Amino acid sequence: MATIKLDIVSPDRGEIFSKDIDMLIVRSTAGELGILPRHARLLTELLPHAMRIKIGGGENLIALGGGFMEVTPEKITVLARSAELPDDIDIERAQRARKRAEDRIAEYKQATKESLIDIGRANAALARAKARLLVKNVPFN
Ligand code: ATP
Repeated sequence: MATIKLDIVSPDRGEIFSKDIDMLIVRSTAGELGILPRHARLLTELLPHAMRIKIGGGENLIALGGGFMEVTPEKITVLARSAELPDDIDIERAQRARKRAEDRIAEYKQATKESLIDIGRANAALARAKARLLVKNVPFN
C-alpha cells in the first residue's frame, strides 16, 4: 500500500515525528481534512486539536497547538506552534491550563463593561489543553 511521509516540527521540541504513514486527519481553518498518499498540493493553517495519524493498521494521536501544513503528493510537513506525543504530555499541567482558560472565558462572558480578557487567546488556550487531554484519553465535558 502507498504511504506518505509525515514530518512534524515545533520550535520548542524540534522534529517530533518523521515517518511514512497511511493517512493523516487534521482540523484546518477550512474544516477537517484527510490526507492520503498522492494528495494534491496544499498549504493551510491548522487549528489546535488532536491530529490522527493512521499507520500500519493502528492510529496515533498527537496534540497540536495549531500551525501550518504543507502537502505535496509525497510529503506532509507540519510546522507546529506546539506539538506533543502522548508520552510527553503532563496531564496535570493541561488540566490547570484548561481550568485557567475556562475561568477566563466565564469572566469574559459575565463582564458588564468592556473586558480586558483576550477571548480569542483564552479559546485557543482551552483548545490546546483539550487536545492534550484527548490525546491522553482523559475525560472532560
Ligand atoms: P501552559 O499554560 O500550561 O503553558 P500552553 O498551552 O499555553 O500551556 P504552549 O504555549 O502551547 O502552552 O506550549 C509551550 C511549551 O510547553 C511547548 O513546548 C509545549 O509543547 C509545552 N507544553 C504545554 N503544555 C504542556 C503539557 N501539558 N505537557 C507537556 N508539554 C506541554
